[in-house]
Amino acid sequence: MKNYKLLTPGPLTTSERVKKEMMFDHCTWDDEYKQITQKIRKQLLELAHVSEDEYTAVLMQGSGTFGVESVLSSVVGKKDKLLIISNGAYGERMEDIARHNGISYSIYREHYNKVPDAQKIKAWMQADKGITHVAMVHGETTSGILNDIKAVADVVKAGDGVFIVDAMSTFGGVDIPVQDWGIDFLISSANKCIQGVPGFSFIIGRRDLVIESVGKARSLSLDLYDQWKTMEVDGKWRFTSPTHVVLAFSKALDEMLEEGGIPARYRRYRKNNRLLIEKMGEMGMKTYIDGNHQGPIITTFFYPENAGFTFAEMYQYIKDRGYAIYPGKVTEADTFRIGNIGEIYPEDIKKLCDIMKEFLEVKNGQI
Ligand SMILES: *Cc1c(COP(=O)(O)O)cnc(C)c1O
Repeated sequence: MKNYKLLTPGPLTTSERVKKEMMFDHCTWDDEYKQITQKIRKQLLELAHVSEDEYTAVLMQGSGTFGVESVLSSVVGKKDKLLIISNGAYGERMEDIARHNGISYSIYREHYNKVPDAQKIKAWMQADKGITHVAMVHGETTSGILNDIKAVADVVKAGDGVFIVDAMSTFGGVDIPVQDWGIDFLISSANKCIQGVPGFSFIIGRRDLVIESVGKARSLSLDLYDQWKTMEVDGKWRFTSPTHVVLAFSKALDEMLEEGGIPARYRRYRKNNRLLIEKMGEMGMKTYIDGNHQGPIITTFFYPENAGFTFAEMYQYIKDRGYAIYPGKVTEADTFRIGNIGEIYPEDIKKLCDIMKEFLEVKNGQI
């Protein structure tokens, strides 16, 4: 099979060293292995700028959605009410989770190309005093928009709510001062901006709120408190852990620090992203999200005018030349997406744009 690089929002292209870490079958109850888990938990707290006294990190088997479901189904109690803020498919997924778990909720829907308005959330909380928790996505991977979680955190705190953030596609790629901003729970996963492979999600949460959630979970496997309680002893996971994924993630964290931490990674991603948007613009392809709200992770593009080709044709042409791109996900327009996270550098973006240019020329009968 011909290899290609992923220009998708995760799983993404990982480094050789990260892949090599998985060539070892580690024993799950071995002390060295448990220490790796503890090291990861500590590093995550540092990246989130939180103190160990007030916050804790919990790793959870499964993809990112498992982490979101774990938090929502464990910390929003039977008498609580959740306000979900949605401007994309991942916001809607939280609604799906709430429905499946019988969580009482309201939902504030915003257009996919607009950031949710903190003042509306404030008004919503004032009008419905029953709301105890607010959940929101940071980088909506559906469109590539970067939501203003700081502004929302301010109003949620003023209204005494617990603030839950799905920072799946941003944590590690965009700096988030979790404690300073008053985020109570943040969820992300191994295979996004930290550049590990898929297999677990992680939760950075307020220690007191995790402890308070004892007995509230609606599921056994996703019980956040139970997972934390076991892991907190010495780093042992509650059930079988994805050992190879854990080793790869630990290496990915070390590589991130070598690169210069989150600020350096943010600069590389943003550079990739700006170059991509500039070059695609030269070819007549505009972004779905306006420049002010476009995040540095993934970009949604409209097809060029009178495009006489399908996504499948474009995908195959590009894949044969070494890159995989992503279909569109917004509902009201015909779009496609290109991610620029992972082991991806400006040379890759330039190569991709050359391939795209050639593809358009072939389609226009110029070649
Ligand atoms: C990737 C992602 C998720 C989790 O998706 P999984 O397929 O379960 O890994 C959740 N929210 C956002 C914003 C994401 O980008």
